[in-house]
Amino acid sequence: MQNRHNPSDYGERARMFQAITEMGEVGIIVLDEKNHIEFANRMVSQITGYETEKLLGTDFTVLLDAQNRTAFESLKKECAAHTTKFCQVIEIISSSSNPVLTEMCFASFIQEQSNSRKGFVYLRDISLQKKLTEELRASEKKFRNLFERIDQGISITTKEGRFLDCNPALLETLGYQSKEEFLKMDITRDLYVNPEDRKEFQERIERDGFVKNFEVEFKKKNGEKLSILLTSHARTDEQGQVIGYQGLMIDMSERIRMEQELREKHGFLSNLLESSVDCILVADMKGKVIFFNKAAEKLTGYREEDVIGTMHISQFYSQETAKEIMRMLRSDNFGGRGKLENFMLTINAQNNEEIPVSLSASIVYEGDKEIASLGIFTDLREKIKIEKELQDTQVRLLQSEKMASLGSLAAGVAHEINNPLGGILIYASLLMEDFEAHNDSRMQDLKKIVEEATRCKEIVKSLLEFGRQTETKFEPVDVNKAIIDDLFFLENQVIFHDIKIIKHLDFSLPAIQANPNQIKQVFMNMMVNAAEAMSDSGGSLTITTELCSDGASIFISFKDTGVGIPPEIQSKIFDPFFTTKAVGKGTGLGLSTSYGIIQSHHGNIEVESEPGKGTTFTIYLPLTIEEAK
Ligand code: ADP
Ligand code: MG
Repeated sequence: MQNRHNPSDYGERARMFQAITEMGEVGIIVLDEKNHIEFANRMVSQITGYETEKLLGTDFTVLLDAQNRTAFESLKKECAAHTTKFCQVIEIISSSSNPVLTEMCFASFIQEQSNSRKGFVYLRDISLQKKLTEELRASEKKFRNLFERIDQGISITTKEGRFLDCNPALLETLGYQSKEEFLKMDITRDLYVNPEDRKEFQERIERDGFVKNFEVEFKKKNGEKLSILLTSHARTDEQGQVIGYQGLMIDMSERIRMEQELREKHGFLSNLLESSVDCILVADMKGKVIFFNKAAEKLTGYREEDVIGTMHISQFYSQETAKEIMRMLRSDNFGGRGKLENFMLTINAQNNEEIPVSLSASIVYEGDKEIASLGIFTDLREKIKIEKELQDTQVRLLQSEKMASLGSLAAGVAHEINNPLGGILIYASLLMEDFEAHNDSRMQDLKKIVEEATRCKEIVKSLLEFGRQTETKFEPVDVNKAIIDDLFFLENQVIFHDIKIIKHLDFSLPAIQANPNQIKQVFMNMMVNAAEAMSDSGGSLTITTELCSDGASIFISFKDTGVGIPPEIQSKIFDPFFTTKAVGKGTGLGLSTSYGIIQSHHGNIEVESEPGKGTTFTIYLPLTIEEAK
């Protein structure tokens, strides 16, 4: 029979016991009835920071604060009552005064030998575990936050076609208020516009494990269609079987709409630039052309593709001009810094033609940096041509005034000479009869007198014919058109620049019987006089045409806001050569010629004027010459 209490046997058992206690990650303590430590393994000193020698014999509860001491006591009591082990989370204080969170299990037993109660304490350091749990929770919270707040739809679905979870963004995109309702839907039936799409999606995700940028159409709750871009990954169970999917659903409708809008806007702007009648040219800061519109092609004769990126601005005008333009652009004095307005220059077209243009230019900035220069060129050829025509017309006008007055002067003189000449011829003929009867020798001289006088009569006759060169050829004339024709020439003249022209034209007026050129000449005289009367301060010229109440004539009035005519000279203004204007400026023939013309049309001119306020000339003309009688 073996002696169970063999000392060496006991020592062996104790060593074995000690060896076992050192094997795990658990601190093991044996306490006597008064909580003094009788045994502690290495793990205990690791957890508490105290060396084993220091711990032995020490009261275990000094490692606990008041609160945890109470917890320990109640753990002990509980254990004694049930004779089984109890565990609880208890904090102990380490040698460095730091709290260490432990899971503490307590068990007690009665030692037969000493009949005393011993306590077993198992200590497990769980502070690391707690830290990890907390971190996990925080990171879960972080991801949950991201999931909830991201403004793209995210969802987790089952393979069968139900949603397990979704974020608020997805609800909003698809127009659902309640998540509960949303989670109930059948994805294939209620979400996909074409259920086949889901089949294809599933095939691909089962095959590859993921689907990227899958374009699909979804139905919103209200039935509206949405373009969605799907990116999903398969969810698998532990055996690697696909059980569902999780992924991102991006609503493309807004992007598609914005892209469309952008395309339209871009198209609109480039159309705008292309369709400008003015030539638009943009160059980078080195002078290379980077934009060239249709009008520029037309003006210069070069084609866009031959210009962009290849041609230099100095090929359109000289280097000096280019430098001058940049200098003015950078100065404040020509329309503001970075701007230049109405700069005249000539540009070289492809066919070597030099085209006069007006340039408005600006520098394009990005922040403070100059990145390009933009020029708008207006072709001046047509304008210059019209100005030249206007000048010519003005010269012709002056000429015709002069001619008309010369005509009437000649006619006047001729008429005056005609009567005495008639007298001379009558008395000479009487004398000739007398001389013939008496065979007078002075007959030859008298014959000479009659001959010369007859020659004078011929000259007078041709003078009268010249005077009657204005003999009128009548045809139907539209007076409104005559006015508009005149205005076309006059409006752009410098003298008309500050004058507002107001037209009250009755376009239902019938045509009148008149000589169109003479009528235009009269109207032009009226308008030029009005403009000259307003040359100091500008003003307005109101032109009115109307049928007279008698129904047989019309009137045309020219009302200006000019200097007016003093009463004492009102009776003289229709006289030939009467003018108040400076020598070389006025001929004094405008009104007299007009008066003659209107007279020959059986019409009438009336004037009303208030000095300082303005003048109105009114011309009355019959519809036909017969009606005037
Ligand atoms: P001219 O204009 O060449 O002097 P006109 O026969 O056209 O000759 O006119 C004669 C004068 O009548 C003018 O010099 C001017 O004093 C006066 N006159 C004509 N029209 C006007 C008007 N609209 N307002 C003021 N004065 C006028
Ligand atoms: Mg005049």
